[in-house]
Amino acid sequence: MNIPFPHKTYPDVTHITRQELDALGVRTLLLDLDGTLMRSGSTDMRADIAEWIAELTEAGMVIYLLSNNRSPERVRAVAERFGLPWTWHAGKPRRSALDAVRRELAPEACCTAVVGDQIFTDMLLARRCGVTGLLVESMDDHRWYYRLRLLAERPFRRARPPKKDGGRK
Ligand SMILES: [Mg+2]
Repeated sequence: MNIPFPHKTYPDVTHITRQELDALGVRTLLLDLDGTLMRSGSTDMRADIAEWIAELTEAGMVIYLLSNNRSPERVRAVAERFGLPWTWHAGKPRRSALDAVRRELAPEACCTAVVGDQIFTDMLLARRCGVTGLLVESMDDHRWYYRLRLLAERPFRRARPPKKDGGRK
């Protein structure tokens, strides 16, 4: 059974530094959009988050925008701003959510991390696919369901790093 503990947790994506990713051996980031990079329903991205994406991209990190959002326009707008490959309505946490990523990038599981704000989509996908899961605090605290979701996620919102034998399950 895949228990969706994240491997590490952060206040927001800007705390996930290049050094941190190097230490984890991560070369490819599969980035969630809503609640992770910007608030759901908003088109504004914080300047420090935009800078974080730009700096990592310039440093050679492969970044893929992997969103469950059902509006291709919304996901495309962010992807095009940074020149990122992207998928909308990805179907996380189903393993097939990574089909398009695999076709386009062929990432290695050992060097890939899913970054997101939700346990039962982003972190569960990471565990199911055997890649690193990096959890951030959700920006969606303006949504009516936010507290309910946190309640359901609470038992899993603590980091469980990969086992020393290299197993990531
Ligand atoms: Mg999200």
